[in-house]
Amino acid sequence: GSRPLKEHLEKELTARGLRRDVDIILTGCHGFCEQGPILIVEPGKTFYCRVQTEDVDEIVEQHLLREERVDRLLYREPGSGEAVFAYPEIRFYARQKRIVLQNCGHINPEDIGEYVALQGYQGLRKALSMERGAVIEELKRSGLRGRGGAGFLTGMKWEFTANAPGEKKYIICNADEGDPGAFMDRSVLEGDPHAVIEGMLIAAHAIGADEGYIYVRAEYPLAIERLQIAIGQAEKYGLLGTNILGTGFNFNLHIKAGAGAFVCGEETALLTSIEGNRGMPRVRPPFPAVKGLWDKPTNINNVETYANVPHILRHGADWYAQMGTRTSKGSKVFALTGKVNNTGLVEVPMGLPLREIIFDIGGGIRDHKPFKAVQIGGPSGGCLPESMLDLPVDYDSLTAAGAMVGSGGLVVMDEETCMVDIARFFLSFTQKESCGKCTPCREGTKRMLEILTRMTQGEGRPGDVEALEELAQVVKDSSLCGLGQTAPNPVLTTLRYFRHEYEAHIQEKR
Ligand code: SF4
Repeated sequence: GSRPLKEHLEKELTARGLRRDVDIILTGCHGFCEQGPILIVEPGKTFYCRVQTEDVDEIVEQHLLREERVDRLLYREPGSGEAVFAYPEIRFYARQKRIVLQNCGHINPEDIGEYVALQGYQGLRKALSMERGAVIEELKRSGLRGRGGAGFLTGMKWEFTANAPGEKKYIICNADEGDPGAFMDRSVLEGDPHAVIEGMLIAAHAIGADEGYIYVRAEYPLAIERLQIAIGQAEKYGLLGTNILGTGFNFNLHIKAGAGAFVCGEETALLTSIEGNRGMPRVRPPFPAVKGLWDKPTNINNVETYANVPHILRHGADWYAQMGTRTSKGSKVFALTGKVNNTGLVEVPMGLPLREIIFDIGGGIRDHKPFKAVQIGGPSGGCLPESMLDLPVDYDSLTAAGAMVGSGGLVVMDEETCMVDIARFFLSFTQKESCGKCTPCREGTKRMLEILTRMTQGEGRPGDVEALEELAQVVKDSSLCGLGQTAPNPVLTTLRYFRHEYEAHIQEKR
C-alpha cells in the first residue's frame, strides 16, 4: 500500500504548494510488517502506522502545517495501550540487534549518497588497504557463518576458493530465497542493496575474483530493479569496473534472474542454472570452491552473509565476535510469521531464546491462544514444541533439537494447528520442488506424501507411522543434495515431538 500512499501524498503537497518543501522518500522494509504501511516524519522520527490514503490530508494539515502529531495514527503497545511515537521506543524494535537491517527503512536505497553518508563502502576501502590473506583472517576471526542454511564458516569458505589454483575466479550471491514464509533476502536487497554489493566486492578482493553474479529470483522485481540502480551507481562512482578506488582491483557484477525453482537455491544447481542449463544439483566433490561456475573456482554466499561483511571490516572481527554464542557469532535475521501478533522481519543476537523472539519481540500469540509449535528454518527445518521455547537460537542448539537455523523462516502455530497437516504442507512443497534427479528424493518424498495425505483425509492405516518414519530416514540419509536430505525434517521433528497426533489420526480412523 505504500506506492498509492506516496502518490496521494505528492498530489496533496502539490495542491497545497508544499511540494518543494517536503521530500518524500521511498525506503525499504522497516520490518514491522504487521503495522504497514509505515510513514515516518522527520525531523522527530514520528512513526505512523497502518496509514491509509484517507489519512494523508490529516498528516499534512495537522503534522506538517500545525506541527502537532496525529495521535490516532501512532503505534500503541498491546496491553498498555500507550501511544509510542519514536521508532526505538517501540518494544518490537527495542529488543532487536539490527546490524544487517540497520539501514533498511532508514535510507533511500536508490541513492548511493545516503549509503555512503552512513559509512558505506568504508569496509571496502579498508579491505583494499589490507593484504588478501589478512581480510580472510579477519573474517575467520569474526566467526561469521553462512546465513543461507548450512552455517559453514565464511572465512574458511573464502580461503578454499582463494587457495584453489586458477587465474579466473567467481563470486556469487545466492538470492534465490524460496522458502514459504521467508522474505529476509528480499528485504535486504530492496532496503540496502549497496551493503550486498560492498560485501561481494570485499569477498572478490580477498579471493582474487574479478567477476560476480547475483542470482535473484524473478519473483522479486523490486529487488532486481534496486540492484540494477545500485550497480549502475557503483559503476558510475568507480566502485565497480576497472581500477576500483585507484587500487588496480577490477570487478564486474551481473544480475541473473532465476525462474523460481526452489532447488536452484542449492549451490551446484544455481551454478548449472547460471550456465544456461536446467538447474539440477551436481555430485560433490568437486566443490564449487575448486570447480564451480564454468569449472572455475567459485565462492557462493547468500545475501545476508555478504551484507554482514562490510560491518565486520568497518568495526573489526572482535566487535562482531562479541555478539552471539561461543560457536554462533553475530546476529541473525528471521522472518516472523504465522499466528503471532507482530509479524515481520526481526534481527536478534545469536543465542536469544525462542521465547523472547516469539513473545517479547513478536508480542505473543494472536487472540491470546496457547502457543503450540514453531517451524524454524523453512521446509528444511523442524517443528519445535513449547518445551523447547527456552532453546537458544544458534546453529548447534537447533541442529541438536532436529531443526536448523536455515535461511531464517520462523512460522508460529497456535493450539488449533494440526501438526500432521503442517508436516504435510511442508513436505508437499519440497516434493513438488524435487528436481527428480535421484531416486530417494524423487520417489521417497512422493510415498511419504501419499501416507501423510491419507492420514489427513482420515484414511490412515496401521503401520503408516512406522513406514513414514523409516522412509523419512532413508530419504534424509541417501538423497543427493540438501533439498532431499532436509525435506523429511518437518516430518521427523513432528514425529519426535507430536507423535501422539499421528497416532490419534490412525486411531480415529479405527
Ligand atoms: Fe534433485 Fe531431490 Fe536429488 Fe536434490 S535430492 S538432486 S532435489 S531429486
